[in-house]
Amino acid sequence: MIRRAKKHNPEAILVACGCYAQVAPEEVSKIEEVNLIIGTKDRANIVNIVENYSASKGTESCVSDIMLEREFEELTVESLSDRQRAYLKIQEGCDRFCTYCIIPFARGPVRSRSIQSIAEEAQRLSENGYKEIVLAGIHVASYGKDLGDINLVSVLKKIHEIDGIKRIRFSSVEPTVITNDFINALKAMPKVCEHFHLSLQSGCDNTLKRMNRRYTAAEYENAVNLLRENFPDVGITTDIIVGFPGETDEDFKESMAFAKRMKLSKIHVFPYSPKVGTKAALFKDQIPEKIKHERAALMGETGEKLQIDFLKGFIGRELEVLYEEEKDGVFSGHASNYINVRTKSRKNIINEIFKVKIKDIDSFSLISEEI
Ligand code: SF4
Repeated sequence: MIRRAKKHNPEAILVACGCYAQVAPEEVSKIEEVNLIIGTKDRANIVNIVENYSASKGTESCVSDIMLEREFEELTVESLSDRQRAYLKIQEGCDRFCTYCIIPFARGPVRSRSIQSIAEEAQRLSENGYKEIVLAGIHVASYGKDLGDINLVSVLKKIHEIDGIKRIRFSSVEPTVITNDFINALKAMPKVCEHFHLSLQSGCDNTLKRMNRRYTAAEYENAVNLLRENFPDVGITTDIIVGFPGETDEDFKESMAFAKRMKLSKIHVFPYSPKVGTKAALFKDQIPEKIKHERAALMGETGEKLQIDFLKGFIGRELEVLYEEEKDGVFSGHASNYINVRTKSRKNIINEIFKVKIKDIDSFSLISEEI
């Protein structure tokens, strides 16, 4: 891609930035088309860095040791091309060190954005017409651990006060966050969507342990039960890795049976892919690609069946939908629990929220009555 970019724009100053540039600057510097290497820090300063760079100097690396970083780098966003949902980054970094993941090395330790700065950005996004905010970060559940007495709930409360914001979502949280106190706090904030992306990664305790995930399948199940008891229509989506080193056929079957039992509303399946620099890449018992892909197909089928079962449960019922796009007079958007709903309408209902009656299912969407 770098070579292609330079070919299209031979006069351009080419900057490599992001995770790979952070963890492997020497490798990236071998690509002669690259002029500047910036890792996962200093992105806010990228224009100045490029302006100060003289193209004749060859490759210059500005990558510093991300593990020493303690400050959240402010990168503000006021509008995005997707006008109905804005992603608001509240934290950076992760110190969980799951054995398959390069992120702690690429993004460094947890740095939380100040609540003041989050509130200001949410206010600006609201003034620019956004009704839904997704709280994003590398490990959102760790928000506040470097700031003292504030946590994710403090952020939710602050954004919940903003009039124009009608919905708040999380990008992903760990099951260990779902406690009685957390649920009680959410119940007092109706703008928080009934959708939780709870990373499972495996439903087998042996595999979870080798992954260094810090929960068991039973703890995950408790979190799911707690959510369902309190939010009966909740959508619980997840990520599952198949073919992790050492995953036996029995481990895989256990993981799949667990996913079925949890009745997850959507599963993103990833065949394990080793990342250089992680512990799991060095594990001896790597799984052949063929088996990984067979397992991915089986888990994918299971996920699709679960998704359809979840969707069918809403036929004949009403859902509140925020409409996001239109094609040929059919508008589509998402319900609070992240179900995709399509609705015919003669009016322009983009960026509007309507309660609609669901009459049918088509593929992985629900179809409502015309409005
Ligand atoms: S998988 Fe998530 S929690 Fe684990 S190390 Fe990577 S970013 Fe952190």
